[in-house]
Amino acid sequence: MPDAIMVEGLTKRYGDVTALDGVDLTVPEGTVLGLLGPNGAGKTTTVRILTTLLRPDAGHATVAGLDVVRDAHRLRARIGASGQYAAVDDHLTGAENLEMVGRLYHLGARRSRERARELLDRFDLADAADRPVRGWSGGMRRRLDLAGALVADPPVLFLDEPTTGLDPRARIALWDVIAELVREGTTVLLTTQYLEEADRLADRIAVVDRGRVIARGTAEELKDQVGGDRIELSVTSAASLEHAARALAPLALGEMQVDAVALRMTIPVTGGAAALTQALGHLAAERIAVRDAGLRRPTLDDVFLTLTGRQADERTADDKTEETVR
Ligand code: ATP
Repeated sequence: MPDAIMVEGLTKRYGDVTALDGVDLTVPEGTVLGLLGPNGAGKTTTVRILTTLLRPDAGHATVAGLDVVRDAHRLRARIGASGQYAAVDDHLTGAENLEMVGRLYHLGARRSRERARELLDRFDLADAADRPVRGWSGGMRRRLDLAGALVADPPVLFLDEPTTGLDPRARIALWDVIAELVREGTTVLLTTQYLEEADRLADRIAVVDRGRVIARGTAEELKDQVGGDRIELSVTSAASLEHAARALAPLALGEMQVDAVALRMTIPVTGGAAALTQALGHLAAERIAVRDAGLRRPTLDDVFLTLTGRQADERTADDKTEETVR
Protein backbone atom coordinates (compact mmCIF):
# COMPACT_ATOMS: atom_id res chain seq x y z
CA MET A 1 0.00 0.00 0.00
CA PRO A 2 1.50 3.40 -0.91
CA ASP A 3 2.04 5.91 1.88
CA ALA A 4 -0.40 8.81 1.96
CA ILE A 5 1.83 10.69 4.40
CA MET A 6 5.60 10.40 4.63
CA VAL A 7 7.62 12.48 7.06
CA GLU A 8 11.41 12.39 7.46
CA GLY A 9 13.51 14.22 9.98
CA LEU A 10 11.04 17.05 10.44
CA THR A 11 12.48 19.81 12.60
CA LYS A 12 11.00 23.13 13.68
CA ARG A 13 12.32 25.73 16.09
CA TYR A 14 10.63 28.78 17.56
CA GLY A 15 13.52 30.85 18.88
CA ASP A 16 15.01 28.76 21.67
CA VAL A 17 12.15 26.26 21.67
CA THR A 18 12.66 23.14 19.58
CA ALA A 19 9.07 22.22 18.79
CA LEU A 20 10.01 19.31 16.50
CA ASP A 21 13.29 17.50 16.80
CA GLY A 22 13.55 15.08 13.86
CA VAL A 23 10.13 13.50 13.51
CA ASP A 24 9.70 10.50 11.16
CA LEU A 25 6.24 9.18 10.31
CA THR A 26 4.57 7.11 7.62
CA VAL A 27 0.85 6.65 7.15
CA PRO A 28 -0.29 4.06 4.58
CA GLU A 29 -3.28 5.02 2.44
CA GLY A 30 -6.65 4.34 4.00
CA THR A 31 -5.35 4.05 7.55
CA VAL A 32 -5.43 6.23 10.66
CA LEU A 33 -2.32 7.35 12.49
CA GLY A 34 -2.89 8.66 16.00
CA LEU A 35 -0.32 11.23 17.08
CA LEU A 36 -0.54 11.05 20.81
CA GLY A 37 1.14 13.39 23.24
CA PRO A 38 0.69 15.95 26.01
CA ASN A 39 0.45 19.73 25.64
CA GLY A 40 3.41 21.18 23.87
CA ALA A 41 4.61 17.81 22.50
CA GLY A 42 4.64 19.15 18.93
CA LYS A 43 1.40 17.71 17.55
CA THR A 44 -0.07 20.95 16.24
CA THR A 45 3.26 22.01 14.78
CA THR A 46 3.42 18.73 12.85
CA VAL A 47 -0.11 19.20 11.52
CA ARG A 48 0.56 22.81 10.57
CA ILE A 49 3.61 21.78 8.55
CA LEU A 50 1.77 18.90 6.86
CA THR A 51 -1.12 21.18 5.97
CA THR A 52 1.29 23.75 4.44
CA LEU A 53 0.58 26.47 7.02
CA LEU A 54 4.11 26.40 8.39
CA ARG A 55 7.52 25.66 6.84
CA PRO A 56 9.86 23.19 8.52
CA ASP A 57 13.43 24.24 9.35
CA ALA A 58 14.75 20.84 8.26
CA GLY A 59 13.52 17.49 7.03
CA HIS A 60 10.85 16.94 4.46
CA ALA A 61 7.35 15.59 4.11
CA THR A 62 5.00 14.48 1.36
CA VAL A 63 1.23 14.20 1.57
CA ALA A 64 -0.73 12.45 -1.19
CA GLY A 65 2.55 12.30 -3.11
CA LEU A 66 3.10 16.08 -2.99
CA ASP A 67 5.89 17.87 -1.17
CA VAL A 68 4.50 20.06 1.61
CA VAL A 69 6.84 22.95 0.77
CA ARG A 70 7.48 22.71 -2.98
CA ASP A 71 3.97 21.63 -3.98
CA ALA A 72 2.13 23.50 -1.21
CA HIS A 73 -0.32 25.16 -3.53
CA ARG A 74 -1.43 21.97 -5.28
CA LEU A 75 -1.45 20.07 -2.01
CA ARG A 76 -3.99 22.40 -0.43
CA ALA A 77 -6.70 21.11 -2.76
CA ARG A 78 -5.93 17.49 -1.76
CA ILE A 79 -6.24 17.75 2.01
CA GLY A 80 -8.82 18.65 4.58
CA ALA A 81 -8.07 19.94 8.06
CA SER A 82 -10.24 20.33 11.07
CA GLY A 83 -9.61 20.99 14.72
CA GLN A 84 -8.24 23.55 17.07
CA TYR A 85 -7.65 26.40 14.67
CA ALA A 86 -10.11 25.62 11.88
CA ALA A 87 -12.41 28.47 11.05
CA VAL A 88 -16.13 28.41 11.62
CA ASP A 89 -17.75 31.83 11.30
CA ASP A 90 -20.20 32.31 14.17
CA HIS A 91 -22.32 34.90 12.39
CA LEU A 92 -23.02 32.71 9.38
CA THR A 93 -25.45 29.81 9.30
CA GLY A 94 -24.17 26.26 9.00
CA ALA A 95 -25.06 26.16 5.31
CA GLU A 96 -23.39 29.52 4.62
CA ASN A 97 -20.21 28.36 6.34
CA LEU A 98 -19.93 25.28 4.14
CA GLU A 99 -20.87 27.19 0.99
CA MET A 100 -18.09 29.63 1.73
CA VAL A 101 -15.60 26.78 1.97
CA GLY A 102 -16.90 25.44 -1.36
CA ARG A 103 -16.30 28.83 -2.98
CA LEU A 104 -12.78 28.89 -1.54
CA TYR A 105 -12.19 25.57 -3.26
CA HIS A 106 -13.64 27.02 -6.49
CA LEU A 107 -16.52 24.58 -6.60
CA GLY A 108 -18.84 27.22 -8.08
CA ALA A 109 -22.01 28.60 -6.49
CA ARG A 110 -24.38 25.80 -7.41
CA ARG A 111 -22.06 22.93 -6.55
CA SER A 112 -21.07 24.66 -3.29
CA ARG A 113 -24.72 24.87 -2.29
CA GLU A 114 -25.35 21.23 -3.15
CA ARG A 115 -22.24 20.04 -1.37
CA ALA A 116 -23.17 22.05 1.74
CA ARG A 117 -26.61 20.39 1.87
CA GLU A 118 -25.13 16.91 1.31
CA LEU A 119 -22.70 17.37 4.18
CA LEU A 120 -25.25 18.93 6.53
CA ASP A 121 -27.51 15.92 5.91
CA ARG A 122 -24.73 13.50 6.39
CA PHE A 123 -23.66 15.04 9.71
CA ASP A 124 -27.19 15.25 11.00
CA LEU A 125 -27.15 19.04 10.93
CA ALA A 126 -29.88 19.59 8.37
CA ASP A 127 -32.36 20.90 10.96
CA ALA A 128 -29.92 23.55 12.15
CA ALA A 129 -28.57 24.35 8.68
CA ASP A 130 -30.15 27.79 8.39
CA ARG A 131 -29.49 28.99 11.93
CA PRO A 132 -26.41 31.06 12.80
CA VAL A 133 -23.69 28.86 14.25
CA ARG A 134 -23.35 30.98 17.40
CA GLY A 135 -26.39 29.22 18.89
CA TRP A 136 -25.07 25.74 18.19
CA SER A 137 -23.69 23.30 20.78
CA GLY A 138 -20.01 22.39 20.89
CA GLY A 139 -20.70 18.95 19.41
CA MET A 140 -22.61 20.44 16.48
CA ARG A 141 -19.84 22.95 15.80
CA ARG A 142 -17.25 20.19 15.73
CA ARG A 143 -19.31 18.26 13.22
CA LEU A 144 -19.62 21.39 11.08
CA ASP A 145 -15.89 21.94 11.35
CA LEU A 146 -15.29 18.36 10.17
CA ALA A 147 -17.86 18.80 7.39
CA GLY A 148 -15.91 21.89 6.28
CA ALA A 149 -12.78 19.77 5.95
CA LEU A 150 -14.66 17.38 3.64
CA VAL A 151 -16.13 19.89 1.20
CA ALA A 152 -13.53 19.16 -1.49
CA ASP A 153 -13.67 15.40 -0.77
CA PRO A 154 -9.97 15.18 0.15
CA PRO A 155 -8.22 11.81 0.25
CA VAL A 156 -6.17 12.86 3.30
CA LEU A 157 -7.62 14.41 6.41
CA PHE A 158 -5.91 16.06 9.38
CA LEU A 159 -7.86 16.19 12.60
CA ASP A 160 -6.20 18.20 15.33
CA GLU A 161 -7.68 17.19 18.69
CA PRO A 162 -11.10 16.73 17.13
CA THR A 163 -12.96 16.03 20.36
CA THR A 164 -11.13 18.15 22.95
CA GLY A 165 -13.69 19.82 25.19
CA LEU A 166 -16.64 17.69 24.08
CA ASP A 167 -18.80 15.75 26.51
CA PRO A 168 -18.57 11.95 26.29
CA ARG A 169 -21.74 11.55 24.21
CA ALA A 170 -20.72 14.15 21.63
CA ARG A 171 -17.25 12.62 21.54
CA ILE A 172 -18.55 9.14 20.77
CA ALA A 173 -20.85 10.54 18.06
CA LEU A 174 -17.88 12.24 16.39
CA TRP A 175 -15.81 9.06 16.63
CA ASP A 176 -18.52 7.23 14.71
CA VAL A 177 -18.44 9.85 11.96
CA ILE A 178 -14.64 9.65 11.68
CA ALA A 179 -14.70 5.83 11.63
CA GLU A 180 -17.15 5.94 8.74
CA LEU A 181 -14.88 8.23 6.71
CA VAL A 182 -12.03 5.82 7.24
CA ARG A 183 -14.16 2.87 6.12
CA GLU A 184 -14.73 4.80 2.90
CA GLY A 185 -10.98 4.96 2.32
CA THR A 186 -9.91 8.35 3.70
CA THR A 187 -6.43 8.50 5.24
CA VAL A 188 -6.45 10.28 8.59
CA LEU A 189 -3.79 11.79 10.77
CA LEU A 190 -5.36 12.46 14.13
CA THR A 191 -3.76 14.26 17.05
CA THR A 192 -5.08 13.66 20.50
CA GLN A 193 -4.34 13.84 24.17
CA TYR A 194 -7.01 11.23 24.80
CA LEU A 195 -5.55 7.79 24.93
CA GLU A 196 -8.98 6.28 24.55
CA GLU A 197 -9.45 8.20 21.32
CA ALA A 198 -6.21 6.85 19.84
CA ASP A 199 -7.12 3.38 21.06
CA ARG A 200 -10.53 3.58 19.43
CA LEU A 201 -9.71 5.19 16.09
CA ALA A 202 -6.08 4.70 15.20
CA ASP A 203 -4.61 1.74 13.30
CA ARG A 204 -1.20 2.82 14.46
CA ILE A 205 -0.04 5.24 17.12
CA ALA A 206 3.04 7.43 17.41
CA VAL A 207 3.65 8.76 20.90
CA VAL A 208 5.31 12.18 20.80
CA ASP A 209 6.94 13.99 23.65
CA ARG A 210 9.05 17.15 23.47
CA GLY A 211 9.22 17.12 19.69
CA ARG A 212 10.29 13.50 19.30
CA VAL A 213 8.51 10.24 18.57
CA ILE A 214 9.26 8.16 21.65
CA ALA A 215 7.27 5.04 20.74
CA ARG A 216 5.19 3.71 17.89
CA GLY A 217 3.03 0.71 17.10
CA THR A 218 -0.53 -0.50 17.34
CA ALA A 219 -2.33 0.10 20.62
CA GLU A 220 -1.81 -3.59 21.47
CA GLU A 221 1.89 -3.47 20.66
CA LEU A 222 2.35 -0.42 22.86
CA LYS A 223 0.48 -2.08 25.70
CA ASP A 224 2.61 -5.21 25.32
CA GLN A 225 5.71 -3.05 25.42
CA VAL A 226 4.70 -1.89 28.87
CA GLY A 227 3.92 -5.46 29.85
CA GLY A 228 2.28 -7.13 32.82
CA ASP A 229 -1.11 -6.41 34.30
CA ARG A 230 -2.46 -3.80 36.64
CA ILE A 231 -4.21 -4.35 39.96
CA GLU A 232 -6.64 -1.57 40.71
CA LEU A 233 -8.07 -1.28 44.16
CA SER A 234 -9.86 1.21 46.30
CA VAL A 235 -9.99 1.43 50.08
CA THR A 236 -12.14 3.25 52.60
CA SER A 237 -9.80 5.82 54.19
CA ALA A 238 -6.63 7.81 53.57
CA ALA A 239 -4.90 5.92 56.38
CA SER A 240 -5.66 2.54 54.84
CA LEU A 241 -4.49 3.84 51.44
CA GLU A 242 -1.04 4.52 52.88
CA HIS A 243 -1.09 1.28 54.75
CA ALA A 244 -2.06 -0.64 51.60
CA ALA A 245 0.67 1.09 49.58
CA ARG A 246 3.27 -0.10 52.09
CA ALA A 247 1.84 -3.62 52.26
CA LEU A 248 1.77 -4.05 48.46
CA ALA A 249 5.07 -2.36 47.60
CA PRO A 250 6.90 -5.72 47.39
CA LEU A 251 4.51 -6.89 44.64
CA ALA A 252 4.84 -3.80 42.47
CA LEU A 253 6.92 -4.21 39.30
CA GLY A 254 7.18 -0.49 38.74
CA GLU A 255 5.88 2.69 40.22
CA MET A 256 2.47 2.49 41.92
CA GLN A 257 -0.03 5.23 41.17
CA VAL A 258 -1.89 6.43 44.24
CA ASP A 259 -4.91 8.70 44.02
CA ALA A 260 -5.37 10.18 47.48
CA VAL A 261 -8.67 11.83 46.59
CA ALA A 262 -10.41 8.83 45.06
CA LEU A 263 -8.68 6.51 47.58
CA ARG A 264 -7.56 4.32 44.70
CA MET A 265 -4.29 2.80 43.70
CA THR A 266 -2.90 1.07 40.61
CA ILE A 267 -0.11 -1.45 40.96
CA PRO A 268 1.83 -2.89 38.01
CA VAL A 269 2.23 -6.63 38.58
CA THR A 270 3.07 -9.80 36.75
CA GLY A 271 1.35 -13.16 37.15
CA GLY A 272 -2.26 -12.14 36.51
CA ALA A 273 -4.90 -13.54 38.84
CA ALA A 274 -2.33 -15.12 41.13
CA ALA A 275 -0.89 -11.67 41.84
CA LEU A 276 -4.35 -10.36 42.68
CA THR A 277 -4.95 -13.26 45.09
CA GLN A 278 -1.58 -12.59 46.67
CA ALA A 279 -2.31 -8.88 47.04
CA LEU A 280 -5.68 -9.52 48.65
CA GLY A 281 -3.95 -11.98 51.01
CA HIS A 282 -1.46 -9.26 52.08
CA LEU A 283 -4.27 -6.78 52.65
CA ALA A 284 -6.34 -9.27 54.67
CA ALA A 285 -3.30 -10.10 56.81
CA GLU A 286 -2.89 -6.39 57.55
CA ARG A 287 -6.65 -6.04 58.19
CA ILE A 288 -7.04 -3.39 55.52
CA ALA A 289 -10.65 -3.05 54.33
CA VAL A 290 -10.89 -3.12 50.52
CA ARG A 291 -13.79 -1.43 48.76
CA ASP A 292 -13.14 -3.05 45.41
CA ALA A 293 -10.28 -4.70 43.61
CA GLY A 294 -9.67 -5.94 40.09
CA LEU A 295 -7.12 -6.89 37.50
CA ARG A 296 -6.77 -5.26 34.09
CA ARG A 297 -4.48 -5.13 31.05
CA PRO A 298 -2.38 -1.98 30.75
CA THR A 299 -4.17 0.90 29.04
CA LEU A 300 -2.55 3.47 26.79
CA ASP A 301 -2.55 5.71 29.87
CA ASP A 302 -0.16 3.27 31.49
CA VAL A 303 1.92 3.23 28.32
CA PHE A 304 2.17 6.98 28.38
CA LEU A 305 3.04 7.11 32.06
CA THR A 306 5.71 4.47 31.64
CA LEU A 307 7.25 6.17 28.61
CA THR A 308 7.23 9.75 29.82
CA GLY A 309 6.90 9.54 33.58
CA ARG A 310 3.91 11.85 33.31
CA GLN A 311 0.16 11.44 33.15
CA ALA A 312 -1.33 12.02 29.71
CA ASP A 313 -3.92 14.42 31.03
CA GLU A 314 -1.60 16.88 32.72
CA ARG A 315 -3.09 19.80 30.89
CA THR A 316 -3.36 23.47 31.35
CA ALA A 317 -6.62 25.14 32.33
CA ASP A 318 -7.00 27.09 29.09
CA ASP A 319 -7.31 23.81 27.24
CA LYS A 320 -10.66 22.99 28.67
CA THR A 321 -13.12 24.40 26.24
CA GLU A 322 -16.80 24.44 26.96
CA GLU A 323 -19.29 22.11 25.38
CA THR A 324 -21.88 24.78 24.66
CA VAL A 325 -20.79 27.98 23.05
CA ARG A 326 -23.22 30.83 23.05
P1 ATP B 1 -1.18 21.27 22.39
O1 ATP B 1 -1.81 19.99 22.79
O2 ATP B 1 -1.06 22.24 23.49
O3 ATP B 1 -1.72 21.84 21.14
P2 ATP B 1 1.04 20.35 20.82
O4 ATP B 1 1.54 18.98 21.03
O5 ATP B 1 0.15 20.57 19.67
O6 ATP B 1 0.36 20.87 22.13
P3 ATP B 1 2.67 22.44 19.70
O7 ATP B 1 1.57 23.42 19.70
O8 ATP B 1 3.08 21.83 18.41
O9 ATP B 1 2.34 21.25 20.72
O10 ATP B 1 3.90 23.10 20.40
C1 ATP B 1 5.21 22.54 20.49
C2 ATP B 1 6.15 23.48 21.20
O11 ATP B 1 6.38 24.64 20.41
C3 ATP B 1 5.63 23.99 22.53
O12 ATP B 1 6.71 24.08 23.41
C4 ATP B 1 5.08 25.35 22.20
O13 ATP B 1 5.14 26.18 23.32
C5 ATP B 1 6.01 25.81 21.10
N1 ATP B 1 5.33 26.71 20.16
C6 ATP B 1 4.28 26.40 19.36
N2 ATP B 1 3.94 27.45 18.57
C7 ATP B 1 4.77 28.46 18.87
C8 ATP B 1 4.96 29.80 18.40
N3 ATP B 1 4.19 30.31 17.45
N4 ATP B 1 5.93 30.55 18.97
C9 ATP B 1 6.73 30.03 19.92
N5 ATP B 1 6.64 28.77 20.40
C10 ATP B 1 5.67 28.00 19.90
